[in-house]
Amino acid sequence: MVLATNLGFPRIGSHRELKRSLEAFWAGRIDAGALLATARELRTRHWRLQRDLGIEHVPSNDFSLYDHVLDTVVMVGAASPRYKPLRSDTLRQYFAMARGLQDGALDLPAMEMTKWFDTNYHFIVPEFFPGMTFDLASAKPLDEFLEAKASGIQTRPVLIGPISFLLLGKMPDGKSPLILIDALLPVYEALLAQLGRAGAVWVQMDEPCFVLDLPEDVRLTFRKVYQRLSGVAHAPQLLVTTYFGGLGDNTEVAASLPVSGIHVDLVRAPEQLKPLLKALPRNRFLSAGVVDGRNVWRTDLDAALGLLRRAADVVGPDHVLVAPSCSLLHCPVDLSLDKQLDPELHGWLSFATDKLRELKALGHALTTGDISSEDFARSRNAREGRRGSHRVHDAAVAMQLRSITKDMAKRRSSYPVRREKQRSLGLPLLPTTTIGSFPQTSEVRSVRAEFKSGKRDRASYNAFLRDEIDRAVRLQESLGLDVLVHGEFERSDMVEYFGEQLSGFAFTENGWVQSYGSRCVKPPIIYGDVSRPSPMTVEWAKYAQALTKLPMKAILTGPVTILQWSFVRDDQPRAVTCLQTALAIREEVLNLEAAGLRIIQIDEPAIREGLPLRRAAWSEYLEWAVECFRLASSGVSDETQIHTHMCYSEFNDIIDAIAAMDADVVSIESSRSKMGLLNAFARFQYPNEIGPGVYDIHSPRVPSEDEMAELLRKALAAIDPRRLWVNPDCGLKTRRWPEVKSALENMVRAAGRVRAELLESGQAAG
Ligand code: GLN
Ligand code: ZN
Repeated sequence: MVLATNLGFPRIGSHRELKRSLEAFWAGRIDAGALLATARELRTRHWRLQRDLGIEHVPSNDFSLYDHVLDTVVMVGAASPRYKPLRSDTLRQYFAMARGLQDGALDLPAMEMTKWFDTNYHFIVPEFFPGMTFDLASAKPLDEFLEAKASGIQTRPVLIGPISFLLLGKMPDGKSPLILIDALLPVYEALLAQLGRAGAVWVQMDEPCFVLDLPEDVRLTFRKVYQRLSGVAHAPQLLVTTYFGGLGDNTEVAASLPVSGIHVDLVRAPEQLKPLLKALPRNRFLSAGVVDGRNVWRTDLDAALGLLRRAADVVGPDHVLVAPSCSLLHCPVDLSLDKQLDPELHGWLSFATDKLRELKALGHALTTGDISSEDFARSRNAREGRRGSHRVHDAAVAMQLRSITKDMAKRRSSYPVRREKQRSLGLPLLPTTTIGSFPQTSEVRSVRAEFKSGKRDRASYNAFLRDEIDRAVRLQESLGLDVLVHGEFERSDMVEYFGEQLSGFAFTENGWVQSYGSRCVKPPIIYGDVSRPSPMTVEWAKYAQALTKLPMKAILTGPVTILQWSFVRDDQPRAVTCLQTALAIREEVLNLEAAGLRIIQIDEPAIREGLPLRRAAWSEYLEWAVECFRLASSGVSDETQIHTHMCYSEFNDIIDAIAAMDADVVSIESSRSKMGLLNAFARFQYPNEIGPGVYDIHSPRVPSEDEMAELLRKALAAIDPRRLWVNPDCGLKTRRWPEVKSALENMVRAAGRVRAELLESGQAAG
């Protein structure tokens, strides 16, 4: 029999139970016992669900209270000494690492957080240092295995493999964390032995780094490490899992590892199947990832079965494991909860729970040869329906796409000329601003919910929003900020808000996906050609500008980010969907300019995460991504200042592309890495203006004036004072007003202080 298996299930719960519980715990409304009970309840529910749907390898230890990389940090005893004062309370220590902690004399910043490969999931970056030691400090994988076993379910524990774990971490002075592998391995050996003795038959070792460009010595390390791990007495069978790309030039090494099986992502990289089958020794299991763990479309089961049959012909059906391409962490949980979705569209979709059914159907079909099941019929209907549907294909959009000219993606003048013309904005040296959103308080959210459910009418909702904007504008004026924002109170989410007003997008009520910790997003589903029936943000921007004499910055979400944070149709190239979106945003930009907005920010926080994992594919992606941004932003006159914003600081790799976007001002994240971006700027002078974030908005901690002034001085070491802006790392929607007020107050003061220093020293001339 061919086994249906899974690599990981979403943790948040179909009703975001984990989020609610975490936030209640952090707010002191429930105790640790209640939080842990929710966690246990969710694990058990998910294990049962998977077993009942016929999944044979059910994952465990895929659950996490915050992040599975942070869990691994704790598990191997790699918590930074900084958090030692909290060691008597492991849960408090854990959340302090994740979120920072300010309590009396204790003031602990959070650990750095970054995106998990090319997803919108964020993980906590492990901190390593030369000579550090490890020990098996938490029994989480074992505990959860035993917990499942006690409820009658045999699971396959999931571990982050030691090589990916190290490679995902940071080491001072740019040393490779892999020098720690010999110190780390005994922990994994001990853990595998424990799991084996406890009855685990398989252990899943996630080694997503295997799909990256790897130097030869890393490949050798893979060999050495898995040789050692497979030699552990009592060790379970090891399945080395790769995903988000193809093994490519690492195929030989992966295939020859002395482990029981290899998992590959055949959705992203179906072309790897052939070489892998050639290289795979006899009796190895091949876990074939044929159901897309990164998207929401119903699987083309016939095509997936075709791949599985090719695999089965070579390794034998009993050595094929039917699997999703990657963990289902990146999928919404349960489509059946979405009752309002258009039935035709509903039939085209598949969420985590449905994907488990698809896996089971594929396993069954491969075993019996029977492809007449209901699942196969539904899959064919979806495919046919999408191909012929007029809601997918819009002739007007196709025509517009054909009429794009080269000039449309170019500003009228070069940056130096624009800069002169933009002086009329009257901005001081080191202008201060924010990234756009202000706190989405529970009041804002509940009023919006009332409006959406029909309990509140449009007029009263708008009146409420006007009040919020009024207050935000007055506050910014009193804080002394130079460029204001309206606060984005009308937006639940920066992509959803636009998607709701664009054609070609659909929304679920409940399609939540974890972004980090308790934060979830509900990505729109782009199912058809994109166009903009009418202006989306102009009224609010105009309203806000009328409240103040200071420049109001209008905020839009850029085409690449809309693409990246949506579930994108899989029936045309991503670049085409992005171009369509770029044209829609361009129209909005022009309408804003016509309405009198002189500063327009087009957020592109996701440009970098869209970067292909392999360098060979970068230039093609960057070319269309930059082109789309330029197409969206270049219709305006020289006097209009275009800003963009990005949520990360690792610029080294793509700084040329960022410069090629030719925004007048770019704001980026950098406070957690203490201006780590300066490496990039030491090599390459960003030609336009830049605002490296001085305030970490992912943490409730309020940074002091001194701290931010120091970061600014650091930034000045690499950035011309006339090009430097002062702003937080990102939007403030997840924060509370009291924190925001104090932090911005400190930020404006820090800017003032450094500005005075510059003027005094005469460095700011010109
Ligand atoms: N303008 C958005 C905000 O402030 C930007 C968010 C983001 O970059 N993720 O919320
Ligand atoms: Zn951001």
